[in-house]
Amino acid sequence: MKKILPLILCAAISTAAAGASAAAAEIKTAPHDTVFTQGPVNPYGKFFTGTSYLHMLSENDSVFNAPIGNVTFEPGARTFWHKHSGGQILLVTGGEGRYCERGQKPRVIKKGDVVRIAPDVEHWHGAGPDTWMTHISVETNVPNNKAEWLEPVSDEDYLGK
Ligand code: MN
Repeated sequence: MKKILPLILCAAISTAAAGASAAAAEIKTAPHDTVFTQGPVNPYGKFFTGTSYLHMLSENDSVFNAPIGNVTFEPGARTFWHKHSGGQILLVTGGEGRYCERGQKPRVIKKGDVVRIAPDVEHWHGAGPDTWMTHISVETNVPNNKAEWLEPVSDEDYLGK
């Protein structure tokens, strides 16, 4: 038993390493400094069109009540339409993207921009059609802040046609 165990461990480790490097190879790195870690493919991808990446900079807890995440969007990627019952503040740290509120045309947002999204305003945010974009998302008025996800942003709405 003592002789078999290391072999099993070794096999498990090499399999895990192969899996990790394959996953890493699929992650495209933004062609700009994301300042904070870009992170893995966004686990909330079912509410996004295209590929985005999420790295939580500060997980929520009852001491701070302030979840802060770094979100990077590939060209063309954007959230679905959605709203936050407690609002949201976006700090754009890299690239150029789009922000749009219901009933308006998308507007360009770029590195250095701050977007304050009032509670319950329907909106979407994402990359430009040909440009990556990274923003930090700050959820405000936590714990009384829930995201409600709506329909995908059509190509027509995305392009502001
Ligand atoms: Mn939002």
